[in-house]
Amino acid sequence: MYVMGIDIGGTSIKGAVYNEHKRVSSIKNRTTEVAHGKEGILKGLLEVIEELMHDFPETASIGIGTAGRVNTDSGEIVYSTPNLPGWQGTNVPKEIQQIVPLPVMVDNDANTALIGEIWAQQKSYHSAVLLTLGTGVGGAAFLNGKLVRGHQWNGGEFGHSIFIPDGRPCNCGMNGCLEQYISGSALTREAQESGFTITHGREIFQIAETNSSASKIVQQYVKHVALALYNIQTTLDPEVIIIGGGVIDSKTHWWQLLLERIEGFPISIYVQPAVLGNEAGMAGAAKLCLEEKHQKGVTT
Ligand code: BGC
Ligand code: ZN
Repeated sequence: MYVMGIDIGGTSIKGAVYNEHKRVSSIKNRTTEVAHGKEGILKGLLEVIEELMHDFPETASIGIGTAGRVNTDSGEIVYSTPNLPGWQGTNVPKEIQQIVPLPVMVDNDANTALIGEIWAQQKSYHSAVLLTLGTGVGGAAFLNGKLVRGHQWNGGEFGHSIFIPDGRPCNCGMNGCLEQYISGSALTREAQESGFTITHGREIFQIAETNSSASKIVQQYVKHVALALYNIQTTLDPEVIIIGGGVIDSKTHWWQLLLERIEGFPISIYVQPAVLGNEAGMAGAAKLCLEEKHQKGVTT
């Protein structure tokens, strides 16, 4: 059986085809055209879907992980920050099915990333939390064997928990959200504000190897990540906290620093980089289809 897994983030839309065991296609990418709002996002999404359908016409269903709060019963985007402008209110299955008549399942991107990781690790965790450090900060909590989607589809949205009172303004309208301190975009902004002419967070890790003020930015960033993990551990006490998202691609530069920080805490935290790296969201979206568990109201 072939299913599609797609990840819609604030920077790119990625998709691939999977079978019951693994990814079977190459990864197709589009830049998320945020300047064109909902239409721009849908354009990239449909291009990825059509490219994959061309190569795998027997694909049976489409799973999507997207930034924002998602009603997993209907596939509607209940809330979306300006990272995906105009996305809020979109019924994603309905939009896709106008063009491609297949079952579509939608969930929050961090939720799908956690599903993907648990699938890839083949572990039967009792509890696990996942944080994605990318354009935004995604969060997912799996407790007592189930994802916590929450009363308002807001379960596990750690990125918008308040980290610094009256801190940096966040796209969600609050100030001091965690996302403004530990996302990849926050790291890039920190570096730019200190005078480094970089366009992507990964560059500052390289510069930090030889430059002390860049190294301070990285140290501060890692300290914030460690404190976020501490808050999660004291709140939910999961068996493991998995870290994914774009920043994990540079983990060789900062993982050891993170472990050193954590060792200094009075509680133990078992932290792991996502084994699928930045691919976890796509894989988990495909896994949603393979399990066809939670989403009802899907038309074929
Ligand atoms: C959104 C989350 C999303 C995360 C990662 C945040 O800004 O509010 O829903 O999971 O970014 O994409
Ligand atoms: Zn926020």
